[in-house]
Amino acid sequence: MAQRNTWQRERVREALADARGFVSAQSLHATLRDENTGIGLATVYRALAGLAAQGGADSLQSPDGEALYRACASTGHHHHLICRSCGLTVEIEASDVEQWAKRTAESHGFSAAEHIVDIFGLCATCSAEHGAPAAGMKDVEERDAD
Ligand SMILES: [Zn+2]
Ligand SMILES: [Zn+2]
Ligand SMILES: [Zn+2]
Repeated sequence: MAQRNTWQRERVREALADARGFVSAQSLHATLRDENTGIGLATVYRALAGLAAQGGADSLQSPDGEALYRACASTGHHHHLICRSCGLTVEIEASDVEQWAKRTAESHGFSAAEHIVDIFGLCATCSAEHGAPAAGMKDVEERDAD
């Protein structure tokens, strides 16, 4: 592996720590590009995957299948509540889910079971702004403009 890319990885890690909530590799790359770091998108992808593998970042799939990352202070197993409008993320414990997952896995003869459970929605602030009813939420399209 290319050791000379260490500073780039470090820069990606910093950018992730500065980002609010979960971000995609693309949006992080856009931020770094604005700062003229010269860090390529492929490097951002690799750095994020490396961070996630080492436990320095949380990763999850957005509802539309995009990988999202977040610098995460908590280590160990946990879940997230994520606002799909503003990106606010709350780390949650879900002991009900832990027990259900364990029970379900065991009842099917599975061992060493793992699970990923994240809840996407609109936070209280965004719900108020959007006047959103709980049902029939429409997807908010907020792609980076450039
Ligand atoms: Zn987390
Ligand atoms: Zn929100
Ligand atoms: Zn869990």
